[in-house]
Formats: sequence, C-alpha cells, structure tokens
Amino acid sequence: MKYNYIFGPVPSRRLGLSLGVDLVRHKTCTLDCIYCECGPTTNLTLKREAYVPFDEVKAELAHYFEHHPDPDYVTFSGSGEPTLSPDIGRVIDFIKEKKSKIRVAVLTNATLLSDPDVRKDLNRADLVMPSLDAVTPQTFEKINRPSRQLDIHQVIDGLKAFGASFKGEIWLEVFILPGVNDAEKELEILKDIIRDINPARVQLNTLDRPGAVPGLTPASKQDLERVAGIIDADNVEIIARVKDLASGDHISDEKMEAMVMETIHRRPCTIDDLTAALNIEKGKLEILMKRLILEDKIESVQQERGMFYQTIKDPLRN
Ligand code: SF4
Repeated sequence: MKYNYIFGPVPSRRLGLSLGVDLVRHKTCTLDCIYCECGPTTNLTLKREAYVPFDEVKAELAHYFEHHPDPDYVTFSGSGEPTLSPDIGRVIDFIKEKKSKIRVAVLTNATLLSDPDVRKDLNRADLVMPSLDAVTPQTFEKINRPSRQLDIHQVIDGLKAFGASFKGEIWLEVFILPGVNDAEKELEILKDIIRDINPARVQLNTLDRPGAVPGLTPASKQDLERVAGIIDADNVEIIARVKDLASGDHISDEKMEAMVMETIHRRPCTIDDLTAALNIEKGKLEILMKRLILEDKIESVQQERGMFYQTIKDPLRN
C-alpha cells in the first residue's frame, strides 16, 4: 500500500522510532516562520478543516499496524500545523483503540490552543511539543509572521490553559535566532510565562538548514547557553546538538557511544538510520560500531533493509 499521509518511521534520539502522520496539505499553517525548513507558508489560515480524508488516514494507519512492528511513537507533524485538522482528536482515539501501548506525540505551534476544542482534541496524546518563540507582538510578527487574526497574548493564554489541564507531558520548544528573538527583555518575560505553563521540559533549538528567508544566522552554543541562563529553569535543555557538529565542534567518543547505545537500546538501527537520527558522520559510526562489537556491547543482525545493530541482551535478566 502506498502511504500518502503517514511517513517514516524515523529513529530519533528523543522519541525512539517515530511514525509520522501529516493531517494537512503542504505548508498549510497559521504561521509563516522565517526559519521554517519547509519553505514559505502557501496557505496561511486559521481555518480548521479536513484537509485530508479521515478515512484514508485511518486505513493507512490500520494497514501499517497490521504489517509492521509497533513504533515507539506516532507523531503528528509534517509540513504544516496539525491542529488545523478537526480530525486530530479522532485519529488519536483511533490509534489508542488499535494500539493502546504506542505513545502519541503532537508537534504544534500552539497558536490554536486558545480554542477549547483543540485542547480537548489533544487530551488523549501522551506528549505535546508546542513551540513558543515570541512573547511580544513585535517579535511574534518578526519571527513567526502570523495570520493577521492571531494575537500573541491569546496564544500564551491558550498555552497556559493547556498546561493547566493536560495530563500528559509538555515539552516546550523555543527556537532561537540571534538578533531576532533573543533580547534579554523578551527572554525575561518568556521565563515567567514558562513558569506558568509548567512544561516537563524546555527545549532550545536553532537553525539547522536554510529557513524560509535567506541569510538567517543560527545561534551558537554560547548563544543558547546564554538563553538557558536567563530562562534559568532546571528543565531547560539545548536540543540543537547538531550545531556542535555543523560548526566543527568535536563530539567526544564517550558522548557518541552514549548517544548510539541509547538509540539502539530502544530499537535496532542501521548505520544509515543512526546517521540520520544523530547527525554523526557515517565513517565515524562504522569505526564505533566495529569497536562496540569487539567489546561485546552490541551485535549485528543482517535483515532485508541492511545490517542492523542492537544492544546485547543480558541473559541473566531475560
Ligand atoms: S509553525 Fe512550523 S510549519 Fe508552520 S511556518 Fe512555523 S515552522 Fe513552519
């Protein structure tokens, strides 16, 4: 069966093996962020409507579940804003009915959380990853270029209401662009808002690939550390790890080993899977995998899609 609305699964360090679901058409979004890696928004809208047919999404998921091992997560993401679909709650319900053990994550730009229906739709998700890059109208305009009817204060109130009612985990992502949204004053306000939303994690990210607007500068590690210092919460983490590599910083062998072991402990992976998930050079990974095999920490298994690496199970524990 050819899938049109589900994609992957892709291994990721944060979620394990994650199957993606895209409920809107390409670049249908409430925002037109200057850093968007999918390019400019072609349908800037606040209208919740069935952009893709619910029955077909359901059929694809049912087919996938029947013919593949379970992923760790089903993640609503893609190249637009998933809460624009009024079917998102029904699709989450369907996944939970079919596969109650698979965790459900939703990546959202948070702009529709002021709508009680949207908050209700997301209630059965296990993890919601909203983003909040601006806390003043000027910065909101500059970085997120929102649909005209959107008001940043309303968005923030929606996030706070969601934080107060949601039983799952919230990981709040803040995308930092130096000179655009990292002024101290802005970050001080953000700090208070984060306290009210009370997310389990605050994740700082920055540009990895070219955005919708040319010439943007990614934040450096130092920039992100400065932001983390101002937000000053125990649960702030810099997830833009890839920038260390892109900027030529060296990742230590111990760190690389820990990242690989953590990833393949959840699910066997090929070298290509690991390269995509961890952004580590293939050559380095090949050397590391050979060493880990010699040290009896991992084993390799040939399968149809290639050579898979997995951690060696401790026989005393099984
Ligand atoms: S919210 Fe996400 S999909 Fe929409 S424009 Fe911003 S980065 Fe792109």
